[in-house]
Amino acid sequence: MTDYPSLHMIINGEQVSGGGRRTFDVVNPVTGETLAELPLADKADLDRALEVADEGFKLWRKSTPQERAAVLEGAARLMVERADDLARIATMEEGKPVAEAKIEVMMNVGLFKFYAGECFRLYGRELVRPVGQRSVVRHEPIGPVAAFAPWNFPLGNPGRKLGAPIAAGCSVILKSAEEAPASALGVLQCLLDAGLPKQVAQAVFGVPDEVSSHLLASPIIRKLSFTGSTVVGKHLVRLAADNMIRTTMELGGHGPVLIFDDADVEAALATAAPGKTRNAGQVCVSPTRFIVQENVFEKFRDGMAERLAATKVGNGLEDGVQMGPMANPRRPEAMEKFIANAVDKGARLNTGGERIGNQGFFFQPTVLSEIPLDADVMNEEPFGPLALINPYRTEEEMIAEANRLPYGLAAYNWTRDAARQRRLGDAIEAGMVGINTHMIGGADAPFGGVQWSGHGSEDGPEGVLACMVTKTVHEA
Ligand code: NAD
Repeated sequence: MTDYPSLHMIINGEQVSGGGRRTFDVVNPVTGETLAELPLADKADLDRALEVADEGFKLWRKSTPQERAAVLEGAARLMVERADDLARIATMEEGKPVAEAKIEVMMNVGLFKFYAGECFRLYGRELVRPVGQRSVVRHEPIGPVAAFAPWNFPLGNPGRKLGAPIAAGCSVILKSAEEAPASALGVLQCLLDAGLPKQVAQAVFGVPDEVSSHLLASPIIRKLSFTGSTVVGKHLVRLAADNMIRTTMELGGHGPVLIFDDADVEAALATAAPGKTRNAGQVCVSPTRFIVQENVFEKFRDGMAERLAATKVGNGLEDGVQMGPMANPRRPEAMEKFIANAVDKGARLNTGGERIGNQGFFFQPTVLSEIPLDADVMNEEPFGPLALINPYRTEEEMIAEANRLPYGLAAYNWTRDAARQRRLGDAIEAGMVGINTHMIGGADAPFGGVQWSGHGSEDGPEGVLACMVTKTVHEA
């Protein structure tokens, strides 16, 4: 049995806690009870972390690809060894079923191994010049990175935020979500135990706005990487602008799913229903707005309602549970508001719609249909287990609805028509488009959105290049 660990920050390799610092109660979403107290950084802690990150960058920028790859590969091995503990801790603090948390561990393992390889592939190029002259384009690590990771993938988000700067030769200060700190510390510890110099990666926690304002005001920070809501993302981009800090922003989505009447509807249901309940819908690429052609609308809606109603909801540590509680008390509250507003505007509630029990943050998987487009939930990211299903007539109307919102993260399409598949790939405005699949990620695949879903990519070669600047050296 894994116990929930005591909590600290990691600054210059030291476990920092106590000393009269403010604390935050980390809560078990199954019961609402406190798991542990998390120490929060004061200004002196952040200044110390900045100073150390500066040293760390000076050191790590000189590292060889072999050294960086060895750390990433070593950390991947340690994560496999520690997978059970890491996954159980993530479940305790975030709520998702432990099997889902294990997938997160393995996503990190895959990413670290891929980035280990990328360390050797950060090629530049030589330009064509007359004999005797030379012009070389090269990529150099950008500098210390301030990285902010949210609570919904307690292991995967920190893995992305740490892996890319480390592969690029940067140092990084990670502020992961205060709601799920032990998972982030577990990932960082694997890197440190694999030989990462202690100055290169550190973890702080705090009052989010205090930490981001302080770090982004420092001339030491050269890059901001943020995953979270669009509202907070816009605020951080404004802060970053003052020091012209480069940004990678992975923000909200409102995943459209287009189901055409020539689709394999059973396959779409078999993919979309567990996709909707994955992490209780608290996923930026969650399938959300189901845009269904009228001939298959009823079949799809009823199939989705039946499947979601049959989902086994419970404590993610227990065998067979398919969906855990929501991660924090803000989420069930938001679900209730979205549903009341939609029903008030005339939407049908096909299944779910209520909290489960009177302990913790459980909410029923829910299907709403025939929802007016001015309902809040049709315009704001629900970030919960709500499937929104509306009927449409033509391909043009379906594409127009898919592109109606300023979000453009993941979009999914189900059709057997090859020509239509090609048209959808061209027409849908999103960073990631799935055709007859919801698998839109992978260590080698860039992950990111357009418009209000953010800019820049994580994962893939693009994830490492986002932590590098381009320099061209011309020699006469
Ligand atoms: P929120 O918008 O306050 O916080 C989102 C994340 O940003 C949290 O991890 C939080 O710690 C961090 N944050 C907030 N203010 C910050 C600041 N000034 N500086 C640095 N970090 C800051 O709200 P929330 O209740 O935690 O989440 C609500 C919404 O956030 C969801 O509805 C969803 O739209 C979005 N969200 C998106 C993702 C994603 O993967 N893109 C993940 C988590 C939350």
